[in-house]
Amino acid sequence: MSENVEEISTESEELLDLKAEKLVQIMVDRGLHSIAPKIEQSGISYLSISELLPGEKDIQIKSLLDKMTRSGILNAKLIDKVVMCPSCRGASILAKYNCPRCESIDIGRASIIEHIRCGYLDSKDKFEKGGALICPKCKGVVRESDYRKIGSSFQCNSCGSRFESPKIKHRCMNCQEEFTYKDALYESAFEYSLSEATKKNVAKGTLPLISIVNALKDSGYDVSQKAQLQGRSGTMHTFDVVARKEKRVIVASFSFEPKEEEIIGLFAKKYDVDPSHTLLVTLTPPSKEEEAVSKAYGVKILCSTGTQSLAEQIYKILNE
Ligand SMILES: [Zn+2]
Ligand SMILES: [Zn+2]
Ligand SMILES: [Zn+2]
Repeated sequence: MSENVEEISTESEELLDLKAEKLVQIMVDRGLHSIAPKIEQSGISYLSISELLPGEKDIQIKSLLDKMTRSGILNAKLIDKVVMCPSCRGASILAKYNCPRCESIDIGRASIIEHIRCGYLDSKDKFEKGGALICPKCKGVVRESDYRKIGSSFQCNSCGSRFESPKIKHRCMNCQEEFTYKDALYESAFEYSLSEATKKNVAKGTLPLISIVNALKDSGYDVSQKAQLQGRSGTMHTFDVVARKEKRVIVASFSFEPKEEEIIGLFAKKYDVDPSHTLLVTLTPPSKEEEAVSKAYGVKILCSTGTQSLAEQIYKILNE
């Protein structure tokens, strides 16, 4: 099992971009473990994500979600299928029934009856005359017991043809485009949820650390994970992330919560190694006390708050 998780997390590493990272972080932060589709006249949208990632278009959000699903970060469960306009992607679609022969919309249901005595078959309305039923062939009066119901079908009032099923056309209420099932978009509406692998990676810090590593690499740092640095005392200290660029050294460690003993433990290593920045990456935001302790010891706590992703916080520190 743990091997599988590792495999998925390396694949995710390649595919994760800032938005995906931000989305997962925000979802975790807010305890939002699944995102449901909203089917509206304008199409399928993921409203909660539009709120989480403002400025993103529905179609960009969809491709982000698809990408995250392919890379195993999210699971997708099919909720519904929606007919959409091939021209404007709207989902406010009317269905029109047409005559398959002349395409007229002037068609209706007809019940077919047979005049038993003469064997004449036609739609019932052809028999109707002045409130009675008269056979168009033999001109005899047809009473209830004189005919047999054969079935019902559609009938075209323009060309007179009868058919079992009409030709169905769609019309978009948004852009007035007419199309058939051949050209219609038939889109899937999925509910997305964090995959088990993602939940595990988040809990053990893999995912947050990937964000940190990528952001540091993007800024030109040489990054190693689970790396050791020798302190002035000669002791070797292990950090989850060690990043170097010229004379600057940044160290980071992960902890589920920014507990005081974690901060002080990291401070002890920092004191010996003397890096440019010492970061404690956590999933839970620090309390006021923890914030004060971290300030006093010069350990910077990085926690995704929902408004700023870990990567953004790294860039901010590097630009200070
Ligand atoms: Zn349209
Ligand atoms: Zn007849
Ligand atoms: Zn017709």
